[in-house]
Amino acid sequence: MNAADSAPFAAAQERAARQSQVVQALQRVLPADALLWHSEDTTPYECDGLTAYRQRPLAVCLPQTEAQVQAVLRTCHGLGVPVVARGAGTGLSGGAMPHALGVTLSLARFNRILAVDPVSRTATVQCGVRNLAISEAAAPHGLYYAPDPSSQIACTIGGNIAENSGGVHCLKYGLTVHNVLRVRGFTAEGDEVTFGSEALDAPGYDLLAAVIGSEGMLAVAIEATVRLVPKPQLARCIMASFDSVRKAGDAVAAVIAAGIIPAGLEMMDKPMTAAVEDFVHAGYDLSAEAILLCESDGTPEEVEEEIARMSAVLQDAGATALAVSRDEEERLRFWSGRKNAFPASGRISPDYMCMDSTIPRKRLADILLAIQDMEKKYGLRCANVFHAGDGNLHPLILFDANDADQLRRAEAFGADIMNTSVAMGGAITGEHGVGVEKLASMRVQFTDAELQQMERLKQAFDPQGLLNPGKVIPTPNRCGDLGLMKTLAGGPGLAPRA
Ligand SMILES: Cc1cc2nc3c(=O)[nH]c(=O)nc-3n(C[C@H](O)[C@H](O)[C@H](O)COP(=O)(O)OP(=O)(O)OC[C@H]3O[C@@H](n4cnc5c(N)ncnc54)[C@H](O)[C@@H]3O)c2cc1C
Repeated sequence: MNAADSAPFAAAQERAARQSQVVQALQRVLPADALLWHSEDTTPYECDGLTAYRQRPLAVCLPQTEAQVQAVLRTCHGLGVPVVARGAGTGLSGGAMPHALGVTLSLARFNRILAVDPVSRTATVQCGVRNLAISEAAAPHGLYYAPDPSSQIACTIGGNIAENSGGVHCLKYGLTVHNVLRVRGFTAEGDEVTFGSEALDAPGYDLLAAVIGSEGMLAVAIEATVRLVPKPQLARCIMASFDSVRKAGDAVAAVIAAGIIPAGLEMMDKPMTAAVEDFVHAGYDLSAEAILLCESDGTPEEVEEEIARMSAVLQDAGATALAVSRDEEERLRFWSGRKNAFPASGRISPDYMCMDSTIPRKRLADILLAIQDMEKKYGLRCANVFHAGDGNLHPLILFDANDADQLRRAEAFGADIMNTSVAMGGAITGEHGVGVEKLASMRVQFTDAELQQMERLKQAFDPQGLLNPGKVIPTPNRCGDLGLMKTLAGGPGLAPRA
């Protein structure tokens, strides 16, 4: 056997030895049912919603108590082992993808709602609680948690905090960062830390804002206090059809320019409405090139007045048809299509890559037309769904990850969308985070000096670089950390799905 042939064998032996050492150490601090390391048990954890990229961790920890979380972190810190926190694994940028020589720390068992306080309009929850479960617990008090990612039935508040997640209602009610008051958790060393407070403001640097959106790289979140808002008395939704994507894009800008902040303002193009309609039968206009969903909420009088104003603006912008939901059942049916856009895409393609860039609202039509040209350039189909009011795009590039050439073209297509968004004055991510997916594009968005500042912040929290290394910041070190992850950072690539 020559040196090149024996290298993979040596690497596998080295990994097995490391795994044995780490598992033995973790067995001392965790009960047997809280530690997985056999490959058949760790396989379900090898990717998040970005299924094209996979990696098996050395072990998966499923602690049930804070003392166990602390012990896992201390053990890993002592051994210099990377730790990747994981919520529900619905992330779309590879943020929770394991480290090949690291441990995945699942917060799945931290799923208790600790308190709902209708007087202060807050809820305190463990970080493995599902987003929707907070609103369900608050409902008897006439309250709900506003940020509503389409994955809210499954995704956790810990994942939402790490990604600064958004959703349909975030245009009016703000992103996760605007709705979380306090986060308690542990550093990489296992020290307890609290960011923010239940008061309106906290003295000193606003570290809560730094931690929200930090993609599991600064601390592991255990518990959060979130803001609740009163459920509106009434909500109604307009479905508007357009015969061109340019008119639909311009209509979005016109609604906001008219001084209206809808409770939701979403857009879908024709390929997306076709995929969705076949799946959930939401009643979408399949003859339209694009549709807008435009929601108003408040008192009945406010809603009536706003629906009339929005209808007038949409008609002036060239809507070919308007339908206003007549009751709650119909409103939910309109939204059921939008909320199922991603699973609907999964039915028409073996894989999809969901992009997430943002652009100024007035450029919506320009980017849509540019994406149509890219479909021809890369020979791949793309269906579009947008948080249009926020200028947040979700082009879904359809491809087959088993075909290495299609994966390469999908990556290039995605990078082109991100770079074009930045050139139009936007950003590479609106709500799904950087993860591994957008590492290379971070260099398009930021200068070296800016990336180094981010790296310094990371080091201030986690000097050994053990929390989720290889993600978000494309320093040579961090890309090297993952070994396999160099395509996305600008070098040779991750293995496509086998
Ligand atoms: C069908 C579908 C629809 C979606 N729609 C939306 C949408 O509308 N808006 C939106 O913003 N996103 C959306 N997403 C993306 C995803 O659901 C969100 O990013 C969500 O916040 C991830 O939560 P999770 O619990 O699944 O986190 P995971 O995927 O498990 O992890 C995401 C990141 O958070 C970190 N993390 C998780 N828990 C913790 C913790 N306790 N402490 C520290 N770090 C942690 C992980 O390390 C990782 O970096 C969608 C995804 C899918 C599959």
